[in-house]
Amino acid sequence: MAGCGFSADGVVVPESDWDDRDAALMRLALDQAHNAWVLGEVPVGAVVVREGVVIATGFNQPVGSADPTAHAEIRALRAAAQILGNYRLNHCALYVTLEPCSMCAGAMLHARISHLVYGAADPKTGACGSVVDLFAEPRLNHHASVRGGVMADECARMLADFFTERRQRRREQEGPGDVEEIVLE
Ligand SMILES: [Zn+2]
Repeated sequence: MAGCGFSADGVVVPESDWDDRDAALMRLALDQAHNAWVLGEVPVGAVVVREGVVIATGFNQPVGSADPTAHAEIRALRAAAQILGNYRLNHCALYVTLEPCSMCAGAMLHARISHLVYGAADPKTGACGSVVDLFAEPRLNHHASVRGGVMADECARMLADFFTERRQRRREQEGPGDVEEIVLE
């Protein structure tokens, strides 16, 4: 679907109109990422949008919830499915501040997400082109359109600032941390 934008009401949004809408929704995902930061989690946030309406949000919380699957995208997908009463999220778009990992990309494919928009690339675990590209794998039977790099600087800066603060605090306390660092290019 190169050159076309997702619109839940069936109207194709011209590429020239992407920026405002995608940036506004990415800002909401950044708010979610900030919620993670406040709880001491790596700041990644996500929102699920259907027919132009945000129906679910999620932020990264694997440490606090003792759940390795508690990435922002999984939490937002679960909340959206609960709200819709359907494990298929047809005609939904997911916005996330960091390129999804293979677990989250797989979950999006299972959920039949129509469109994915992400912010910063993740050269360590990104599954949308950085390490692998599950969305471009022709042997997988569902394909979502993908747009990366939306507000990438802001999304990457939040992660970088978080890790800077974390390192600083660790130096002060001289204690080991349990949060794996994401090194962005
Ligand atoms: Zn993930």
